[in-house]
Amino acid sequence: MTERVYNFYPGPATLPLPVLERARKEFLDFAGTEMSVLETSHRSKEYDKTHHDAMDLVRELMGVPDDYRILWLQGGASTQFYMVPVNIHTPGKPIEFVHTGTWSKKAIKEAKLFGEVKVVASSESDGFSYVPENVGFSENASYAHITSNNTINGTEWHYWPKVPGGVPLVCDMSSDLMARVIDVRKFGVLYAGAQKNLGPAGVTLVIVREDLLDRVPENTPTMQKWSTHATKDSLFNTPPVFAIYMSKLSLEHIKEIGGVREMERINRAKAKLLYDVIDNSDGFYKGHARKNSRSLMNVTFRICRNGRGDKTLEEICAAEGLQRRLVGLKGHRSVGGMRASIYNAMTLEGVQVLKEFLVEFQEKNQ
Ligand SMILES: *Cc1c(COP(=O)(O)O)cnc(C)c1O
Repeated sequence: MTERVYNFYPGPATLPLPVLERARKEFLDFAGTEMSVLETSHRSKEYDKTHHDAMDLVRELMGVPDDYRILWLQGGASTQFYMVPVNIHTPGKPIEFVHTGTWSKKAIKEAKLFGEVKVVASSESDGFSYVPENVGFSENASYAHITSNNTINGTEWHYWPKVPGGVPLVCDMSSDLMARVIDVRKFGVLYAGAQKNLGPAGVTLVIVREDLLDRVPENTPTMQKWSTHATKDSLFNTPPVFAIYMSKLSLEHIKEIGGVREMERINRAKAKLLYDVIDNSDGFYKGHARKNSRSLMNVTFRICRNGRGDKTLEEICAAEGLQRRLVGLKGHRSVGGMRASIYNAMTLEGVQVLKEFLVEFQEKNQ
């Protein structure tokens, strides 16, 4: 048996073992072609099936309505930071953001290249420790943009904001896609890099309501138009075949587990294990996020001595974690502290091991 660590990296992140094993098994002979999927024409009937199966699985698992298109694109979620305004910004109408962390900051910077940006709510002054409530968008906004899970700060939206009729809600779902049941109808556009919750790096999933495809100006470069890719089922040019193939295997795995509803149940149980450790630690562990904004995917915390975050203790914890095969627990450099990323593919068992380690670490060091 292959030895595996418990991988808490924030992305690229752990993948389900059965998915990796299946990929290994099929690696030299993809769908009976006696070629690797890496060598197969993207126009072959074998690849075509994988490609469309992957889209069908997204539609089925997320309950994507018929009037939404599913796109496989490249360039990461970061490319969508500008492709969104390229495709749906209406000149003269402001682009409205809720600013909840590093990723919304980057999305805001790109949107500013295209028009007026209004930040309607922000948690910046409080270290992005929460998701603002009761946010309001204006009726003449081009679109409203949110980041459903803030990977670095460890906060997550637990309600969807109201948007005035006709204003599409756009959501960067890179780090909590398919982690919980959502109503796709609430959104005009969803996008997510695959490498956190879905598959490997190299493909970005975009789900867009059909009517929004008509907004793009004609003189937009072909590759930058969502409509180009929608018309050709994301086979206009060579798609990232391996990343899509791996995503398909992951989607099948989610389906086998019992779909997104079951995934959500497991994710809630995982997150609860860690937040209970924090809440029962008498202040030894201090969560970064306010309780009602806590992320199910990225649990961020400091380790404290005399009530204050202690860098040395955190470094010791990360190092001792490594010895116990717990990898990737250091927080993002911009926030510090610790972060456990527990995406879909992280098992309940893995989180249980981390929990026991943290409880023990406290007993030894408090
Ligand atoms: C990781 C991440 C991104 C950046 O994704 P890339 O695929 O690296 O461009 C954007 N938004 C969120 C919320 C993320 O977690």
